[in-house]
Amino acid sequence: MAQPKEKGGLGFRSFHAFNTALLAKQWWRLMTVENSLMARVLKACYFRHSPLMEATKGSRPSYTWSSIMGARWVLDKGCLWRVGTGENINIWSHQWVPGAAGFRLFSGHNYRPGLQRVSQLLLPGRREWNHALIRQVFAPHEASLILQIPVSGNALASSSGAISGIWKVLWQTKSIPRCKELLWRACHDIVPVRAVLVNRGIVTDSICPLCGDDDETLVHAFFGCSEVAPVWFSSPLFMDFRHVPDNFSLVQWLSQILKEGDDWLADSVFTLLWAIWERRNKWCFDHQWYPFDFVLRRASSLASVGFTVGDEGSVLHGQRREGGNATWRPPQSGIIKVNVDASVSAGSLMGYGYIARNSRGEVLATAAAKWPTASTVALAEAMALRWALQLSLDLGFFAVDVEIDSKMVVDAWSNHSRQCSYLALVVSDSVFISQSFHSFSLAHVLRASNMAADFLAKFALS
Ligand SMILES: [Zn+2]
Repeated sequence: MAQPKEKGGLGFRSFHAFNTALLAKQWWRLMTVENSLMARVLKACYFRHSPLMEATKGSRPSYTWSSIMGARWVLDKGCLWRVGTGENINIWSHQWVPGAAGFRLFSGHNYRPGLQRVSQLLLPGRREWNHALIRQVFAPHEASLILQIPVSGNALASSSGAISGIWKVLWQTKSIPRCKELLWRACHDIVPVRAVLVNRGIVTDSICPLCGDDDETLVHAFFGCSEVAPVWFSSPLFMDFRHVPDNFSLVQWLSQILKEGDDWLADSVFTLLWAIWERRNKWCFDHQWYPFDFVLRRASSLASVGFTVGDEGSVLHGQRREGGNATWRPPQSGIIKVNVDASVSAGSLMGYGYIARNSRGEVLATAAAKWPTASTVALAEAMALRWALQLSLDLGFFAVDVEIDSKMVVDAWSNHSRQCSYLALVVSDSVFISQSFHSFSLAHVLRASNMAADFLAKFALS
């Protein structure tokens, strides 16, 4: 009788199936609305220290909990883990690979006994798949399924909200932009000190060019170097960096300084860092050597400039303009307009297109890139957007209006935090990156006014 009418039954609902579906819905609610009263009570009682998907029934479950646990198999059949840091996901026992049979992996089990967590498949300290390892361990089709999964691109994204708020404060500080930009780069580990270049395989020698005693890490180059520490010590700041602890974090140090809310302090620190870096480069590239008091004088000359031309650029954070224009329009003076698009082909690749223009309509940069394809067109567009924002920062464009012709991505921008899809994950990466700009806006435009980016994305695939 519970069979559908087309199949010869009477279409009655199976009471058992109906009840299971209702309980499974409760389970889904527990997963997605983590701060509901029920979720908080159940978490405190039954899975205080573990994620919901690893919760067990426990020894004396309440009626509610044991009923909900009874319907868990329904979700186990269709749910999969979304890769964030990958630390909580077991490579072999969890369901985490979209497109794989049962969302699980079947190859590579015997490869390496220590290989357990998905985080081990990422490059150390980075949110990027370790392509070489994955291709080595898994069968080709499973390897490409893994490599298609977008991972959250920001190591800083997982840090606390207090840290993520500092960029806005940094950009508002009264200091000249190039000093702030250097600091921003240093915090994101993209200042080309020797240790960073060795990691990227660009040079082979990481020894500090100034003192020749130690590896030139960021902390060494800006603070600990015996040629640099006297600069700090003899400056009006009297900071002593002769013995920098191993766990010194530039980001945390910066956030402490910004928390003081003292423009003089912040400006002095930023300009000193800039002058230190300038002296280092003059030595490396022009073989001109300047004593440390020169660095101090240089910093103070920059600092006085900093206070007179301090506030430039209006902050447009969080603003969103609705699109609909059929032709491309130049941005306001001082802003760079970035158009971005993705093109998905029938094969295993997708193309990204990027074009940046100023208020006179002059092209400042174009880029096209090929990437392993994404599972949906919207996801491809979201990944192209993330790539474009990162690229803009790398190019030094700190005030941008970004246009994209995917309405889904622009919609996801406003409610990414309430969803747990990969689209929302990639969009929330972009939201995070967008906080690093002085000025930022995102708008949806018609395909017709995004033709240049569209052309470049298709060009990437040709
Ligand atoms: Zn040194």
